[in-house]
Amino acid sequence: MDSRQSDKKPIMVTVDLEDWFQVENLRPLFPQETWDFCELRVERNVYMLLELFDACHVEATFFVLGWVAERCRGLVREIARSGHEIASHGYSHRLCGELEGVALGEDILASRELLQDITGEAPAGYRAPNFSITKELTDILGELGFAYDSSYNSFGLNSRYGRAEGLRQTAGGHLTAGSGILELPVSNLELMGRTVPWAGGGYFRFWPTVVFEHGVARILRKEGRYIFYCHPWEVDPAQPRCAHGIDRVSRFRHYLNLDRTMERLGHFFHRFQGSRFISCSRYLGVGRYERTCGDIPERSAAAQ
Ligand SMILES: [Zn+2]
Repeated sequence: MDSRQSDKKPIMVTVDLEDWFQVENLRPLFPQETWDFCELRVERNVYMLLELFDACHVEATFFVLGWVAERCRGLVREIARSGHEIASHGYSHRLCGELEGVALGEDILASRELLQDITGEAPAGYRAPNFSITKELTDILGELGFAYDSSYNSFGLNSRYGRAEGLRQTAGGHLTAGSGILELPVSNLELMGRTVPWAGGGYFRFWPTVVFEHGVARILRKEGRYIFYCHPWEVDPAQPRCAHGIDRVSRFRHYLNLDRTMERLGHFFHRFQGSRFISCSRYLGVGRYERTCGDIPERSAAAQ
């Protein structure tokens, strides 16, 4: 029952495209002024992911950081040419609550214009650094013309994650924010009345493969879809190691099982090979897929 029932359901594989020195765990060591002096390893890592996605027929969504896009324009073009969705991860990887309204809007707009300039298409989606969703964020995204946001993580115990306010259900079964944009939360596991983080990242590297995949099958059975996330630096065990200057938990979280991520991803894609690995835009019927979607009448009615 396990695999058969879940097999045709959509799985959205999302990649937060940033480099190893831009993650929150290492922020005390690498403030933005230092980024230009760090070794850029993101290109090689993304090409490895692209190869794996191609081999496993995965159409993914890349939430691209503007700072990286500016320096790796060819890479962003290559991702788009490979058939994946290009979405925005903002420009400077600051948590939403740290930027005041205007600065937050400018950060998002800068990345949006950059990505549009590179690919010729405005990104339909956005994901906040560390899932730091705020109501102000969803309002700004609505004003800027984004179709969806994927910044909500329902796991309540990570203090960096934002809280969702005012989200409600659409007729098509999606969530929407007050500003009218759709919200696509990453997936977690509900177990004995608790929310267990199960969407990817360090949690994907922590659990034994079989256990993690069992949880994904359970989410697919219950919710009919699964939204996963990972980062290019998670497939790079040779990245520079920082032994000092960060706390133990952050170090554990960042470096855990990096040498096994590629193998685990391959296993995961193989295990769910009968599912549909599709981009967030295609799943939601927004952006370039807007006119083909009958599921969200209030949005498609406005399209022309
Ligand atoms: Zn990020």
